[in-house]
Amino acid sequence: MKLEGKTAVVTGAASGIGRATADELAHAGATVIVADINREAGEAAAAELNASGAHARYLPLDVSDLASIQQFALDAVGVTGQVDILVNGAGWGKIQPFMENTPEFWQRVVAINFTGPVALAHALLPGMIERQQGRIVNISSDAGRVGSLGETVYAGAKAGLIGFTKSLARELARYKINVNCVCPGPTDTPLLQAVPEKHREAFQRAIPMRRFGKPSEVADAVLFFASDRSSYITGQVLSVSGGLTLAG
Ligand code: NAD
Repeated sequence: MKLEGKTAVVTGAASGIGRATADELAHAGATVIVADINREAGEAAAAELNASGAHARYLPLDVSDLASIQQFALDAVGVTGQVDILVNGAGWGKIQPFMENTPEFWQRVVAINFTGPVALAHALLPGMIERQQGRIVNISSDAGRVGSLGETVYAGAKAGLIGFTKSLARELARYKINVNCVCPGPTDTPLLQAVPEKHREAFQRAIPMRRFGKPSEVADAVLFFASDRSSYITGQVLSVSGGLTLAG
């Protein structure tokens, strides 16, 4: 799958699934903007990509902050001229009973996992609409499809991202902009490693393939949706979860 001449913004690209996605898109030929709140890891990711012969650049972004999103969008277009692909990969959550969640906690969960991707799409879409081309890939979660014990608000935000994906796909099809959604199941990243051991063991037992996903396996699905191999596919939700969740 070739992405030469394309520019891709990947949020959360300093770690885990976002990092693997940045690698795959960059090695398919795209110039990748590594967008992350973690400057040190983001700069290191971009430097590693450039050292391997790919083209990448780190730009700071806090997806929970509207001013940061607006500044980032201006900088990304200023640096690259245009953004062809947006991957909303940044995400955050913590396992906790719903009745222990504080308003500050759920506002943060919703801001990072739902409002941020909405605002970033809104900020980057004008150029895509003008050029009548573009790809948006939202990283949701199987939690958003089937629910997840102890991740109630996170699951709600990720379900919102699925509804947003489908509706935006309908609205943007006329501009030749495809919008799709990848739902990872438990994937071996720092986010999953922060989950208590007993929960991770339970997850693993429930997965028909009996192992966690690799970040690169999720990135493969993102690359498909970012490339012309998915030109007639929009508004779709693809689980990458070793058979954990099966659609009817
Ligand atoms: P990760 O923690 O390894 O990486 C997340 C990245 O997002 C980090 O680099 C972090 O700095 C960045 N980030 C966090 N808050 C940010 C903010 N406010 N602004 C900008 N960047 C921010 O996590 P991951 O496991 O690679 O998760 C990637 C995506 O996949 C997330 O959307 C997550 O919800 C989703 N997901 C992960 C799993 C899993 O098991 N790992 C399962 C389902 C869905």
